Amino acid sequence: MTDYPRIPLAAVLGHPIAHSRSPALHGYWLKRYGIKGHYIPIDIAPVDLPRLLRILPELGFVGCNVTIPHKEAILQIADVVTDRAALIGAANTLIFRKDGKIHADNTDGSGFIANLRQNAPDWKPASGPAVVLGAGGAARAVVAALIEVGVPEIRLTNRTRARADAIRHDFGAKIHVHEWTQAPNLMDDAVTVINTTSLGMTGKQDFHVPLYRMNPKALCNDLVYTPLKTQFLIEAEDRGATVVDGLGMLLHQAAPGFERWFGQRPEVDEATRQAVLSA
Ligand code: NAP
Repeated sequence: MTDYPRIPLAAVLGHPIAHSRSPALHGYWLKRYGIKGHYIPIDIAPVDLPRLLRILPELGFVGCNVTIPHKEAILQIADVVTDRAALIGAANTLIFRKDGKIHADNTDGSGFIANLRQNAPDWKPASGPAVVLGAGGAARAVVAALIEVGVPEIRLTNRTRARADAIRHDFGAKIHVHEWTQAPNLMDDAVTVINTTSLGMTGKQDFHVPLYRMNPKALCNDLVYTPLKTQFLIEAEDRGATVVDGLGMLLHQAAPGFERWFGQRPEVDEATRQAVLSA
C-alpha cells in the first residue's frame, strides 16, 4: 500500500455559519501559498459539538475555528485551555494534537492589537486611558489585550452594567465601570476608544453614542466591520481622531491558526483584505 501524505483539513464551526468570512480568508491563503489543504464551514448545533470534535481528527482535520454560539462552551470540551482563553472565558482556535488532545486558545486579543499596530503605528496605548464601549464576549478579549499592552486605565461602559462589573471582577483594578448614559463624558482625554458593541452593524441598531467630547488625538477602532466604515468611525474621523476598521482584527486573529494547521505564517496585507472583501 502506498503511504500518501494526508491533506490537512481545517474548518470553522458555528451555528449558523453561512455568513462567515473565514473560509474565503483561509481559502485565499491556501491558494496564495500553494498549500494542498482545505478549510470548510460546518454548521453544527451546540448539542452535537462534543461528538463532532472527537470525529474531526479521525477524518484528517488538524484543527478548527469556533464561532458563535460555541466560543464559551468549547472551554468545557477542550482538554487543554490556554491561560488567556481561560481568563477571557472563550476560545476561537483549536488544535487537534497528535496525542488526541484538543488544545483551545483565544487569538481575538492578539488579532485586535496586531490590527491597531499595523494600521496606526503611532498609537501609544500606555500613554493614557482607554474607553471600551460594550462588555460582551469580544470586549473581554479587548480588555485582556489592552491590559497586556500597558493601558493604565480602562473606562468600561455597557448597557447592561452587570456584564461590565463581571469584567471588573475578573480583570482587576485597572477597569473602571461607568453607567452607559455616561459614555459621552468618558472621552475627552482618552487615548484609545473601542466600540465592542454590535451597534452600527448591518441589521443591528444604529450607533447612537454622542462623540462631541472625543479627544481629537484619540485612536478609534470599531470591531464591527460590516459596514467597513461605520457611523462611529465616520463621526470620530470628523472630530479629528485616527480611525481603524475592524476587518484587520478578523484577518489577524486567523493567522496563528493557519500557521499551526498548515505550517506557514500568512501575511495580512492589502491583497488579503481585498480577497476577503470581494468574496
Ligand atoms: P455579544 O457578546 O453579543 O455582545 C454584544 C455587545 O453589544 C454587548 O455589550 C451588548 O450590550 C451590546 N449591545 C447590543 N445591542 C445594544 C444596544 N441596542 N444598545 C447598547 N448596547 C448594545 O457580542 P460580541 O461577540 O462581543 O461581539 C460584539 C461585536 O463585535 C459584534 O458586532 C461582532 O461582530 C464584533 N466582533 C468583531 C470581531 C472582529 O474580528 N472584528 C471579533 C469579535 C466580534 P448588553 O450586554 O447590554 O446586551
